[in-house]
Amino acid sequence: MKDNLNRSINYLRISITDNCNLRCIYCMPKEGAIYHKEDEMITLDEAFTFVKIFSQLGIEKVRITGGEPLLRTGICKLVKNIRSIDSIREIGLTTNGILLPRYLDELYESGLTTLNVSLDTTDEEKYRKMTRIGNVREVIGAIKKAKEYNLKVKLNSLIIHDFNEDEIDSLVQFAIENDVILRFIELMPIGYGKTLKGFKNDDIKKKIEEKYTLKEFDDDELGSSKGPAEYYKLGDTDKLIGFISPISHCFCETCNRVRITSDGKLKECLYYEGNLDLKEELRKGTSQEELKEKIIKAVILKKKQHKFLEIGKVEDSDEKAMSMIGG
Ligand code: SAM
Ligand code: SF4
Repeated sequence: MKDNLNRSINYLRISITDNCNLRCIYCMPKEGAIYHKEDEMITLDEAFTFVKIFSQLGIEKVRITGGEPLLRTGICKLVKNIRSIDSIREIGLTTNGILLPRYLDELYESGLTTLNVSLDTTDEEKYRKMTRIGNVREVIGAIKKAKEYNLKVKLNSLIIHDFNEDEIDSLVQFAIENDVILRFIELMPIGYGKTLKGFKNDDIKKKIEEKYTLKEFDDDELGSSKGPAEYYKLGDTDKLIGFISPISHCFCETCNRVRITSDGKLKECLYYEGNLDLKEELRKGTSQEELKEKIIKAVILKKKQHKFLEIGKVEDSDEKAMSMIGG
């Protein structure tokens, strides 16, 4: 499936809940958001139907996200079902890790291929401050346990002024010691992210270079899992570190992804309101063939690039928290 700029779309991120067991300062208000009611959310059977339809349109890589996806009962069965689709080469999960130990066995058995865990600090107090309720020991334990399985584990870290800028080095140390790929992601001015000041990746890179040389890494070696990150080898180690810089180094030109929100809307771009209500179409009886046509038409309309740098723009991401859009 291609959009009108000839970008091949082969990656689908699907959110299965807007609820969460944490309240990260850049993602949710401290009292929690107003969540979708049960019948407003896609069922996991509907999620599977969407993935099947998208796989017939060229999607090869799927990531399940949220809110916190491990809060949704039946997630392992969804992973297993998606894995049974021949053309899906990669099925990943993005999680805060709190509930992970409970599900690792089943997720592994279900055929999960990659696991992204969000971790912005290894310090208990700072983690509590950033997530408002979380205990970092649980996440660290979950990451160590996940490494015992043969899962590709990546850490996603956001660095925020006045919260965790002094954690860059300990995150790097943690990644080296636990043999996981660490990726720094720039804070986007989405929802509560607008109220904070994120670090630019070039500044994070400079800080790391005070201690290590960063050697450019030919990320073709990472195959389909390379995504928009720019990877480097850390000093003389074989460890990789990645930088995802949607703000300072916009990668929209090569964007290959679309999203489905937990209430079943297709979003061709994180920034803009989507053009198609997939859940409504399915529930009103639109045939799968018709739905495919509508998806193709919606994807063609994918915009050239986000407008995060244009102050004052009011688009979908202005009003919604990341947990509602699906990170
Ligand atoms: N709850 C899961 C988790 O935290 O990994 C999955 C959903 S969360 C919305 C997915 C990712 O989005 C997390 O890595 C989080 O750090 C990131 N995120 C949330 N708000 C963001 C923002 N404003 N800018 C950039 N990333 C953001
Ligand atoms: Fe929850 Fe993830 Fe948002 Fe944190 S970033 S509040 S863990 S959805």
